[in-house]
Amino acid sequence: MTFILGLTGGIGSGKSAASHWFETQGITVVDADIVAREIVAKGQSALQQIHAAFGDWVLLDNGELNRRALREHIFKYPEARKTLESITHPAIRESIIQQLQAATSPYVILVSPLLFETNQHELTDHTLLIDASIDLQIQRAAMRDHQSIEQIEQIIQSQMPREQKRRLADDIVLNDGHLDHLYSHLRPLHEAYLKR
Ligand code: ADP
Repeated sequence: MTFILGLTGGIGSGKSAASHWFETQGITVVDADIVAREIVAKGQSALQQIHAAFGDWVLLDNGELNRRALREHIFKYPEARKTLESITHPAIRESIIQQLQAATSPYVILVSPLLFETNQHELTDHTLLIDASIDLQIQRAAMRDHQSIEQIEQIIQSQMPREQKRRLADDIVLNDGHLDHLYSHLRPLHEAYLKR
């Protein structure tokens, strides 16, 4: 069995920067955010189930998911969020498992902002947290996404607190310097993971 590393971190912590570095080392990265979008693409059974559960208004004229309408709906109705997640979470999990199993690199990474929150860490052998102060998270996410500080703070609030993630993770890299500093901390971990 291939060794599976779970990579996580709050918004703006540097997860994507870290996973891109691992990719440059030849490691396959399965991205839970990408999988979450793939499983609701046109023609996928999860999209058909969402359509059946919510009605025609969840689809755009071209048959794709009306993400914005659905987002506003589940924001207003917590029960609807549960219904949605009862459809999407199992589909995401199944697709992640398939993609992890299909990987042929020496080990494989599952990157997910909600690795611990959604129990996706159960699919992994070992976890790595990319950690950064809230100030740095806000600064980096604001630069990247052109979101307001309030929006980013709201996302941080909705994610598991930093301290709790630090307690759960097997390895932690504090991404508080330049990108080269981040990579220099990733390299010895990568060497160790190669031996697993
Ligand atoms: P995440 O995937 O955890 O949300 P990213 O890896 O996308 O975070 O990082 C957020 C932004 O900050 C990106 O634009 C990224 O290039 C930048 N960034 C990440 N780490 C550093 C660093 N150590 N120094 C400078 N910029 C960084």
